[in-house]
Amino acid sequence: MLSAQARAAARAALAAAFRWSGAMALWKATVLKNRATVLMYHRVLTPAQAARAGSHPGIVVTAETFAWQMALLKRHCHVLTVDEFHAGLTGTRPFPPASCLITFDDGWRDNVENALPVLERLKMPAVLFLPVGFIGKRRAFWREALTQLAVRAVRASRSSAALREPLAAIMRPLGLAHLLELRDDDVHTAVVAQVSDTLPATQPVAVDDLSRLAEVLGVSLESLADADAFMTWDDVETMRRGGVAIGGHGVDHRVLTTLSAGEVRAEIEGSREVVAPLAAPATLTFSYPNGYWTPEIAATVRTAGYRMAFTTEAGLVSAGDDPWSVRRVNIHEAATASPAMFLSRVMGFL
Ligand SMILES: [Zn+2]
Repeated sequence: MLSAQARAAARAALAAAFRWSGAMALWKATVLKNRATVLMYHRVLTPAQAARAGSHPGIVVTAETFAWQMALLKRHCHVLTVDEFHAGLTGTRPFPPASCLITFDDGWRDNVENALPVLERLKMPAVLFLPVGFIGKRRAFWREALTQLAVRAVRASRSSAALREPLAAIMRPLGLAHLLELRDDDVHTAVVAQVSDTLPATQPVAVDDLSRLAEVLGVSLESLADADAFMTWDDVETMRRGGVAIGGHGVDHRVLTTLSAGEVRAEIEGSREVVAPLAAPATLTFSYPNGYWTPEIAATVRTAGYRMAFTTEAGLVSAGDDPWSVRRVNIHEAATASPAMFLSRVMGFL
């Protein structure tokens, strides 16, 4: 067996060979014929923002990385509007060679600050999926709020022995009491990694538990949202004017497979009511929160009037694929460390 390090080196070498040997041109003309790649981005952060953010590293690229990635897409791919993508998917028009659709989930404020200027400069379209209950509110996703609280809890328990047991009592049932034993100098990075690995998206931590932790730590839940902020509605309008199509991503970003049929309908229709006036009817699209869906949920999305729905399942898209379970390719910093690795991933080579 190759070590993880050796495997990573082999992948990098393969990616470089793919880019420079002429294989990429052949690949575009054959494997990518009438196919497209949907790129899935979440957060685009400056180093200072990344040092404070509570998000999983698997949903982050740096602003610098995003800028060179867009320049490469401009050079090597045909970047589609959502309308052109729909036409290719449904067979109305073939996908041009090496077609791409750029998508952003969640409506993070950093998208308007760090991604939009790049897209505007290069005149590239994109799609943005909004969990409408978070837009324009000082409100964090539970995972980011929990991470911010856990960072503060570790620091507080180091400086005050009296806080240690009250914090542990709340964190123990969440399976997070071990964080208080962390000895890392970089508490933030250590906690982000631990929270990401410990808690699945399907088991959200209750607001009551977050509130109890916040109370012991003497912080407000609202203030926790500042390092992981969502757009205002003015920001959304700025994105729209910059050529970004708006789609739905639920109301409260709940994992739809964990809900009753009535709750699923409320999430899907609630976000449609808000985003439909911002989208052309032909291009109203949906992204399943955390990628969880079933055929019944897809049918609800369809009935609600959306035209397509995007998953987080990995892979390229072919003309004729099911429009209610569109595959995407997740782009994050570690998976796209070099231009060659990025292009290989986008083109489905690695
Ligand atoms: Zn999401």
